[in-house]
Amino acid sequence: MLGFVKQYVDWLHLQWPGGEVETLPRVNDDFRTNVDGVYVVGDLAGVPLLKFSVDGGARAIQDIVDNQEVPSGESNSEQDPYDVVVLGAGASGMAAAREAKTQGLSFCVLEARRRFATIHDFQKGKPIYTYPNDMAPAGDLQVSATVKEELIDELEAQTDDIPVRHAEAHRIDETADGLEVVTNEGDCISARNVVVAIGRSGNFRSLDVPGEDKDHVHHRLYDPTRCEGHDVVVIGGGDSAMEAATALTEAGAAVTLSYRRDEFVRPKPENVERVHELANDPEGDNPLEILKPTDVEEIRDDSVRLSTEDGQTGVKADQVFAMIGREAPLDFFRRSGIELRNDWGTVPDSLTEAMSGLSWLTDLRWDRIGAFATFFLFMAAVYSWKDGGVVRRLAKAAEVFPFGWSPGTGTGLGEILLGSMSKPSFYYTLAYSAIVVIFGIKRIRRRKTPYIKMQTMTLMAIQVLPLFLLPEIVLPWLGKNGLLPTGFLNALFPTSEYAVHGRQYWRAYGFILAWPLMVYNVFTQDPLWWWLAICFVQTFVLIPGMIYFWGKGAYCGWICSCGALAETLGDQHRDKMPHGDGWNKLNLAGQVIMVLAFALLFLRIGGWIWPGSWVDAAFQAGMRGEWFGLKLNYSWLVDVVLAGMVGYGVYFWLSGRFWCRFFCPLAALMHIYARFSRFRILADKKKCISCNVCTSVCHQGIDVMHFAQQGKPMEDPECVRCSACVQSCPTGVLEFGQVQPNTGEVISRDTLEASLTRIQEEHAEENGQAASA
Ligand SMILES: Cc1cc2nc3c(=O)[nH]c(=O)nc-3n(C[C@H](O)[C@H](O)[C@H](O)COP(=O)(O)OP(=O)(O)OC[C@H]3O[C@@H](n4cnc5c(N)ncnc54)[C@H](O)[C@@H]3O)c2cc1C
Ligand code: SF4
Ligand code: SF4
Repeated sequence: MLGFVKQYVDWLHLQWPGGEVETLPRVNDDFRTNVDGVYVVGDLAGVPLLKFSVDGGARAIQDIVDNQEVPSGESNSEQDPYDVVVLGAGASGMAAAREAKTQGLSFCVLEARRRFATIHDFQKGKPIYTYPNDMAPAGDLQVSATVKEELIDELEAQTDDIPVRHAEAHRIDETADGLEVVTNEGDCISARNVVVAIGRSGNFRSLDVPGEDKDHVHHRLYDPTRCEGHDVVVIGGGDSAMEAATALTEAGAAVTLSYRRDEFVRPKPENVERVHELANDPEGDNPLEILKPTDVEEIRDDSVRLSTEDGQTGVKADQVFAMIGREAPLDFFRRSGIELRNDWGTVPDSLTEAMSGLSWLTDLRWDRIGAFATFFLFMAAVYSWKDGGVVRRLAKAAEVFPFGWSPGTGTGLGEILLGSMSKPSFYYTLAYSAIVVIFGIKRIRRRKTPYIKMQTMTLMAIQVLPLFLLPEIVLPWLGKNGLLPTGFLNALFPTSEYAVHGRQYWRAYGFILAWPLMVYNVFTQDPLWWWLAICFVQTFVLIPGMIYFWGKGAYCGWICSCGALAETLGDQHRDKMPHGDGWNKLNLAGQVIMVLAFALLFLRIGGWIWPGSWVDAAFQAGMRGEWFGLKLNYSWLVDVVLAGMVGYGVYFWLSGRFWCRFFCPLAALMHIYARFSRFRILADKKKCISCNVCTSVCHQGIDVMHFAQQGKPMEDPECVRCSACVQSCPTGVLEFGQVQPNTGEVISRDTLEASLTRIQEEHAEENGQAASA
């Protein structure tokens, strides 16, 4: 049995990695941070490539010019604030300075080491890839060189008129007059705006193995020729490691490349190809040896111990290069009050570390934790008020809004509206619909693809018409004025002495919200045959049919009201969804809730057949019963606590899809359908630069990059077709499409364009053709 469960959960969810998302500063599309006037550009804005860095630096300045008063352009004394202070004289910082000069702003550039220090650190003769080839960055600074030395000459020639002050920025303070950059020496430089372009200048990532601090272990390679004749181990599987291994081998070192995964998926194809060429070169004096998957266990004076699939091995090495990247300078941002993505402070890495003392508690972000707890309690109170909890009982007893007044019983539109306004749920749905429309319009403006426009307009229309106006106004008005046949009304909206308009018009939500997301049209005291038929067709015919062609997102991303809010209000919070293998296991909570819903369905049917029997009693207890004086039943726990209080309570901290991803029983059922679907996200592998943007924007926690790097169609059933990954990918790798499930052969590609980069490329091509015509 356990074996079967394991096979099932692997098939459904766990066969794919959870992915990781790096903590970086939170910036908007114009590179602005939460601190007024502070921008973050370059590598720290998310895409680690020269052209994107240069582009971001220039665009940040253009945003300053577009949104602020006429620039002063005057020379500056220490007392007058500069229009802009640029921190870091790397590619993005110098592009910002170049643009500031062009735009006539007063500016100052601070640099801790030297101009273009990161590029100077590249190894001698390093090849430079100026991806994406067709991209022309904003501003005047351009890059086209193909080797390191040429690149430095090219960049310096374009910026030699820009003065750079030698100083290391320690933090940015907000003052009454604007901003102040404080250097490590304690100097203060006033500014109206600050562009932070300090790159990944944080610590080198650590291997956490004994011997890592020995003198012959390096994190950078300056001159490969110095290692000629040496035994060298290079550790890592990214571009830096590939390029170091190549250069060292070509310089005459005996190189072993150790990588922890079994495939190189992150580096550029050119680098992987070259490494494999050297590894397979029988003519070479020192062929490169690749050992993967291997983990470094210890670094000794003359060797490196690696663990392999078959045990342990030792590799001779008198020089070791650990090229596993750098961390972002998070302390700088924390000191400056710049918000980081998903920053809860420094959390212990393991339970053992947590148990070893409580000092880590002081490193947590208590302001964020406090705000989260307050909002969570607020949402718990809202749901208690709306859905019959303590707050509603208190409000009713005290005759507080909206209780304590009796609406008329007339049939005019105004009286119908007043009647609906006597229930908390009216205000809840009104606010919900308004938020979907307001934030939907913002989403359309921000994301600018035909796909987003069509999808968001559909979500807004469904939320406003069938999910608000229909049950609250249209049906009650038609019903009360005798404009609907009584048989139809009795079949779908039975009378009720508790219903404001005399009938249960709220059941109309069931036209959109299918069982078991909405269970109340099925779990009724007596069977409502029409609803049973509708629900059956929705859940077991229409939805699987749609999913077969367009994936689970056809419902979750285009129809459902939970999806409508998550794609609109939640649009700017999608990168807060936690990623990782542990969280992926929680995906299975929905399966448990789905099984409970089916169990209740069988009990419900049994209760109809044998009314008053133990089956009926078991259904009532499971659905609405109280245990130990608490509402420990399906209706309260799933519908109110998980979908409402938790789902919305965590919205601005763990993304808007928390309920959808982890707990929704309808989604859990759709995951099974989706495993047979033709829908995929197709990837053009050769364009992927392993920037991880797609994974970090996925609010279903999918490691999209894992598929893209290998050029595999993305088939994780969690996908809600929001299109964020496709839209945000900077090189236009991804697109929606369909494959033949058995063979993987691509059947079709979506014509509704969802990739911003592809749209821009098409425009550029059209303009180019028009110009040459
Ligand atoms: C080994 C390697 C190979 C690469 N190869 C390529 C490639 O082939 N093609 C490509 O497109 N991209 C490549 N990249 C990426 C590219 O180099 C970066 O995207 C780009 O340099 C980022 O520019 P930046 O301005 O954000 O940061 P950086 O270039 O890192 O510049 C940051 C500057 O800020 C300074 N600084 C740091 N802290 C402070 C402080 N507190 N105060 C003042 N100054 C500070 C630093 O000294 C540095 O000069 C490579 C990167 C590496 C590491
Ligand atoms: S698919 Fe696009 S967004 Fe994802 S890692 Fe590759 S280049 Fe980056
Ligand atoms: S479309 Fe992309 S970002 Fe959206 S859910 Fe699917 S994989 Fe995630």
